[in-house]
Amino acid sequence: MRQKILVSGGAGYIGSHTCVELLAAGYDVVVVDNFSNSKPAVLDRVSRIAGRDVTWYEVDLRDKSALARVFAQHTFSGVLHCAGVKAIDEAQRFPLKYYQHNLEASLTLIEAMTQHGLRRLVFSSSATVYGEAARVPYREEAPLAPNTVYGRSKMMVENVLQDLVQADPSWHIAILRYFNPVGAHSSGLIGEDPSGIPGNLMPHICQVAIGKLDELAIFGHDYPTPDGTGVRDYLHVMDLAEGHVKALEYVCRESGLLTLNLGNGRGYSVLEMVRAFEHACSRKINYRYAPRRAGDLASYYADARRANEVLGWRAHRDLSEICTDAWRWQSQNPEGYS
Ligand code: UDP
Repeated sequence: MRQKILVSGGAGYIGSHTCVELLAAGYDVVVVDNFSNSKPAVLDRVSRIAGRDVTWYEVDLRDKSALARVFAQHTFSGVLHCAGVKAIDEAQRFPLKYYQHNLEASLTLIEAMTQHGLRRLVFSSSATVYGEAARVPYREEAPLAPNTVYGRSKMMVENVLQDLVQADPSWHIAILRYFNPVGAHSSGLIGEDPSGIPGNLMPHICQVAIGKLDELAIFGHDYPTPDGTGVRDYLHVMDLAEGHVKALEYVCRESGLLTLNLGNGRGYSVLEMVRAFEHACSRKINYRYAPRRAGDLASYYADARRANEVLGWRAHRDLSEICTDAWRWQSQNPEGYS
């Protein structure tokens, strides 16, 4: 009998790649997603890659009775909680939406797990929980001081999970703090499909390369970084997906709370990303320098040693593979999933 894993937000960018990896590792996968920022077609693609079906339900996690029906139909060995909303600027304008979809939804899911005696959880958090108070490279012990609503919504869930383990040590929880996931599955069948003009760097570069957007605005070139542009820790989404499977295996073995950075441990500048992408797609990426984006930090990247020590995980795909895979996805799916 295969172990069955519930993946919330399994049709999203991270969730879909993680489902592929879970299926490859021999798990059965059940997805709940409200499809607010994704499409069921994603899951057909996941099944195609894996050669196995994914059971899915259109469920908003805040809908207690819909969630209860899913729990009544399946016996899960663990939960990967990837569902959430993640646009930093939208969060500043609509904080309530972010607390509802990120915090309230998490509470409902945790409550349903409690009712079914299920205590193994992997939670998608974010490196934005650190904020500017932390020293680079960020270690997991660094003080949390998120400077955005989005970051605070993630930190609040982390706090809930810490309290949960404190009150009941039989919980098995891993909190994964993602740095900047980019790239796509090597099949070109699944990838990142943002709606509207992409706010993040990589999908924006992809859309300039394919001709959907005229140019990239590089936000700031006077940062105290080697070339003046912002530096981030970009990691391949399939490396991240592998990290989830390892974290799941960990929570199936160990109780308590484990908090981990998932990053590749080094930073790349915006210009380095542009150059690497130009090389991968053999096209020129038009860009211009624009003012800094409000709230952006100059440079941050992970201290990724703990994930390696505890899970034996590290990001091993390089920038060239990241860009080649992102370009394959974009060029084979110029309109995304639609
Ligand atoms: N960035 C940029 N132009 C864009 C989008 C992003 O210059 O259109 C820069 C941004 O200032 C940052 C880096 O690219 O230095 C990564 O931004 P992203 O939004 O992808 O991730 P985050 O800032 O949330 O880490």
